[in-house]
Amino acid sequence: TTTTTTTTTHVFKSKLPDIEISNNIPLHAYCFERLSEFSDRPCLISGTTGKSYSFAETHLIIKKTAAGLSGLGIKKGDVIMILLQNCPEFVFSFMAASMLGAVTTTANPFYTAAEIFKQFTTADAKLIITQSQYVDKLRGDPTAEKNFPVMGEDFKVVTIDTPPEDCLHFSALLSEDVPEDVEEENINENDAVALPFSSGTTGLPKGVVLTHKSLITSVAQQVDGENPNLHLTTEDVVLCVLPLFHIYSLNSVLLCSLRAGAAVLLMHKFEIGVLLNLIQRHRVSVAAVVPPLVLALAKNPKVADYDLSSIRLVLSGAAPLGKELQDALRSRVPQAVLGQGYGMTEAGPVLSMCLSFAKQPHPTKSGSCGTVVRNAELKVIDPDNGSSLGYNQPGEICIRGAQIMKGYLNDDKATAATIDVDGWLHTGDIGYVDDDDEIFIVDRVKELIKFKGFQVPPAELEALLVSHPSIADAAVVPQKDDAAGEVPVAFVVRSGVDLTEEAVKEFIAKQVVFYKKLHKVYFVHAIPKSPSGKILRKDLRAKLATASPLS
Ligand code: AMP
Repeated sequence: TTTTTTTTTHVFKSKLPDIEISNNIPLHAYCFERLSEFSDRPCLISGTTGKSYSFAETHLIIKKTAAGLSGLGIKKGDVIMILLQNCPEFVFSFMAASMLGAVTTTANPFYTAAEIFKQFTTADAKLIITQSQYVDKLRGDPTAEKNFPVMGEDFKVVTIDTPPEDCLHFSALLSEDVPEDVEEENINENDAVALPFSSGTTGLPKGVVLTHKSLITSVAQQVDGENPNLHLTTEDVVLCVLPLFHIYSLNSVLLCSLRAGAAVLLMHKFEIGVLLNLIQRHRVSVAAVVPPLVLALAKNPKVADYDLSSIRLVLSGAAPLGKELQDALRSRVPQAVLGQGYGMTEAGPVLSMCLSFAKQPHPTKSGSCGTVVRNAELKVIDPDNGSSLGYNQPGEICIRGAQIMKGYLNDDKATAATIDVDGWLHTGDIGYVDDDDEIFIVDRVKELIKFKGFQVPPAELEALLVSHPSIADAAVVPQKDDAAGEVPVAFVVRSGVDLTEEAVKEFIAKQVVFYKKLHKVYFVHAIPKSPSGKILRKDLRAKLATASPLS
């Protein structure tokens, strides 16, 4: 006999009313739906060159880029890879691909040849838009055992600056004539438009299929309707220093600003002096940041030399922002609302956000990630038995709504392990909802390590470690770090006694982007595992918290 238990599901919803979301149009059309209201207003400002593009100019260049890409054979369903630092061409390319019904996979330009190769081949990309300085990596890594070339015979690479001989210049895509509107009727709301990569709760990085509907829903949840979470106007200048290859910046900064008519100030890299100068010069009103940037703004002595009075909102996301740091920033920008957003690539990405229009003091509590976005449901479950928890009880955060990913690319198993049969996406984050419906993230049960908000998937480093002839087994876990939030450290079982910590670190360092480098290696006799062979990461994390992790 089976026993049935009646369980109540506590579903948390936004206090803001749900809204109608126009899902029957493609993403680019949705973003530019109100174009005529602000066509002459600044849309993109390059912090590097100072060049500014109005909304009308931006839209026109996007149409030309779409025609150019189509001329290169890019069509509906094809994947292009953008390998760029933040720049106007990033925006033109992404939106142009949307116009063609094509899909963009975005990658970190600092990736090694091997990392680019993996993402490029998994995504089955047809073309890369990049900068000339990265082209050598696309030819492969001659020093590596396996070469990893993505550039083959007549493979197309477009560079935004002077191209090497066998590449095309971006300007070659832009015809003099104004192209006819590209045919759009065959783009379906469930077609993919973006394919960022994320390791999710476990394993290696996977392609996250975000559809036109997911991203439109997510943007609408943030900026549409009365009193939205992220209130942006045509008067706003929004700082875009976070890399657009990460969905937080692509969605909450770029797409939300395009939709609302706000100007986006693009910075190709973070440098505190340049950043402060640009904020002052362009009267930046909204700054989307990550905790290490909050640290810089709160603590760097240079900040005192600049006028930051234009800032009305600082929005931090991608990693936990502690109460102390949030409070420390307050004295530097006393006029601004300080709040957090909580996101996960697979969730489209925003689950919750502070209310940016709320008045001081303290619209949301320090350390809180705001309230769940509208048109979505959030629940907190007991990670051990899945039962639904009420207010103030920490458990795994789950989210449901049209904004979440369609699934992982070509990986039904990983998809089913993340989105359950009832449509709930399980985040692997532990948090609770307080009496004011504010969400606090307190821990992470998934493997993921976050270095300054960047993903470091332990499984990726473990696979590299065990490929070393003198390493028998390995596990990688996060260690707390003041500047980076977390850094990856490894526990290694060596099969050759000569292997040194430095040699292991170097072996990894030459194969990965800078933030995946190991900060410490502990040699151990065995990796603790469950009877089913799963690494007991909790035990290793607990060891790290003690003074001597090896005892
Ligand atoms: P990503 O997919 O790279 O955006 O990483 C998503 C993960 O980053 C989440 O599942 C959380 O573990 C973490 N994260 C994002 N935003 C926050 C936040 N505001 N507070 C705490 N953790 C966060």
